[in-house]
Amino acid sequence: MTRLGRLLGDLVRQRGGVLTDELARVRPGFGLGQVPARLAPDRTVSTVCGFCSTGCSLDVHVRDGRPVNITPTASYPVNLGMACPKGWEALTPLRADDRATRPLLRDQRGRLQPVSWEQAGAAFASRFKDVQRRHGPDSVAFLSTGQIPTEEMALLGTVAKFGMGMVHGDGNTRQCMATSVVAHKETFGFDAPPYTYADLEESDVIVLLGSNLCVAHPILWERVCRNPHRPEIIVVDPRKTETAMAATQHYALRPKSDLVLLYGLANLLITRGWIDEGFIAASTDGFEEFAAHVARYPLDDVAARTGLSVAELDRFATAVHEGRRVSFWWTMGVNQSHEGVRSAEAIIALALLTGNIGRPGTGANSITGQCNAMGSRLFSNTTNLLGGRDFADAADRALVAGVLGIEPGRIPDRPSLAYDQILEGVVSGRIRGLWIVATNTAHSWINQTHGHDVLDRLDFLVVQDMYQSTETAQRADLILPAAGWGEKTGTFINSERRIGVVRRVADPPGEAMADFDVFRLLADAWGCGELVERWTDPEAAFGILRLLSAGRPFDFSGVSGYEMVERHGGVQWPCPTPPDAEGTERRLFADGRFFTPTHRARFVFGDDRKPDEPLTSRHPLILMTGRGSSAQWHTGTRTSKSPILRSLSPEQLYVDISPGDAEARGILADDEVIVSTARDHVRARAAVTPNVGAGQIFLPMHHADTNRLTAASFDPQSRQPSYKWSAAEVRRAAPEDVASRAPNR
Ligand code: SF4
Repeated sequence: MTRLGRLLGDLVRQRGGVLTDELARVRPGFGLGQVPARLAPDRTVSTVCGFCSTGCSLDVHVRDGRPVNITPTASYPVNLGMACPKGWEALTPLRADDRATRPLLRDQRGRLQPVSWEQAGAAFASRFKDVQRRHGPDSVAFLSTGQIPTEEMALLGTVAKFGMGMVHGDGNTRQCMATSVVAHKETFGFDAPPYTYADLEESDVIVLLGSNLCVAHPILWERVCRNPHRPEIIVVDPRKTETAMAATQHYALRPKSDLVLLYGLANLLITRGWIDEGFIAASTDGFEEFAAHVARYPLDDVAARTGLSVAELDRFATAVHEGRRVSFWWTMGVNQSHEGVRSAEAIIALALLTGNIGRPGTGANSITGQCNAMGSRLFSNTTNLLGGRDFADAADRALVAGVLGIEPGRIPDRPSLAYDQILEGVVSGRIRGLWIVATNTAHSWINQTHGHDVLDRLDFLVVQDMYQSTETAQRADLILPAAGWGEKTGTFINSERRIGVVRRVADPPGEAMADFDVFRLLADAWGCGELVERWTDPEAAFGILRLLSAGRPFDFSGVSGYEMVERHGGVQWPCPTPPDAEGTERRLFADGRFFTPTHRARFVFGDDRKPDEPLTSRHPLILMTGRGSSAQWHTGTRTSKSPILRSLSPEQLYVDISPGDAEARGILADDEVIVSTARDHVRARAAVTPNVGAGQIFLPMHHADTNRLTAASFDPQSRQPSYKWSAAEVRRAAPEDVASRAPNR
């Protein structure tokens, strides 16, 4: 029996012995008698949610073999019986009628036509190999995701880089977390968010920077609300977000003046002696240099540059000083910036110099975006070699090769290009083939119009996705139908480093397969199937990842398998020995030792810079984008399938604009307006609100039109896009305005 035959046999077994018509077409003659009986039809299955990085557990109720309802798991230590609207509605996207159910290959007339999996695998291999033959192995790259289980990410990276000879591959985590990764590495010595969610309940001062926690991470906000210490809640955000409204202090600083504010606060704390000299001396390097640097940020100057008053700065610093347990939390408002890394490092510096790290209720805590961004950061094998290692390090390559049982020479000796560099590589002709897995580049990438042009230049574009209707899939030459969350098994790692198990509760539609099985099939079609002999199923892959974790900061070699993870309500890394108590919370750096060679954290800093795109008389407003609703997830690929979730936020694109800016332009609430930047213009409805400051506007990122406007600007260290600053203008729509393109849903 061929590997493909075995794979399809496995697939039938996974489906409880039901040989669908589609599978029968793929593998005629495969008999029902060869497979075990279907699982008990009525059951409840606990599984980690597949949207955001909070990592809630959901109990899926299965009746007659079908998932019928969801309730949040009451006993899970993350969500304690709570879920946001996306979690409650997590099953609906699985039933959408635009699911990809068969491989589709574009024919010579440009039409996507159904093909068998054998034909799809053959086309994938022959077309990409042909590109590589003509332009070199580097000419084919992949773009991955933080939305699939860690086992699948690791298998993709292994197959693509060690089997297919690709050098370049990156993930959509570049769009959300790359900044934090760099900041953690430079300061802590490893990409290691130090906290546990219990810290939200144990702080007496909670500082939220660039985080609309109420909307973006609603269950974490619920954890804040459970805090019994009546905490001071300080929000730093140009907008008066839902979180800012609920805060005890809100600092509405000028957009992208956060680094100036942070250096100014550090200077204030240092000059007043409000620092922890013992901790600084024992556990940090570079304080003197940092203090000299921030001395260049005197109070008056910082007030003028941030738009905050001296009294506000004083109040902020005093709150930090008087707090016994101060925690600093940040997310995309910091990360998605032209100087995000330096800003994140400045937040870490505030925690270090006040000794607010390693103790309950403290920490410099980056909140991740996607459900498995943390798994991606460790095991996607894109810019880092498997396990947060270095492609350029021969010892790291030898170790990984030894664990995987492959020749070290199969491992590239250089890291990948970043996401934006891969796309620019397409423009320059360096990249000719692209394989996109579970991400919607044509919607989410900054300066979308350019992104569309880039994708259309490729010799061969493969999109592997749950849906054949995404903006990206519609550009593909080959669509590979993938199972979604709930239709496959594996693990996610959440923001607090907790490994959780994702369970299969439904069958994928038609011929769609788990990404894990697609990667194995494609390895076989390529002729590198021997590489994945040991990757027989997700739990076997988990065993390989355990071995790769041994001795690393995230060592989870003490976790024997999925059953142990589930028995303990998820397990936070590190866990080098079996966990001995349920509910154990793990916080890093309690011993004041970090992952740097000196075991001391570093103060890292640099000069502040102006945003890349200047405001002009034609585009005088600052456009910020972000999450507009707790009911929509990223590009809405899945959440837009739910009528309930759609009903919770405006269907039409809206733009928040201040009353003064609206009046100056003759705009009334609910007016049709045109929002323009140097790149494009879109039609929107005006939401006139004091929640954005003068000179600022805001667009929700889940709307398909938003990234037609954004300026392609990147943090130079992390290569993360800066979605929070573009020069824009708004005017009332005139009858002659050409309607903006309708969204595709
Ligand atoms: Fe929890 Fe996030 Fe899922 Fe909502 S989307 S239920 S907050 S994991």
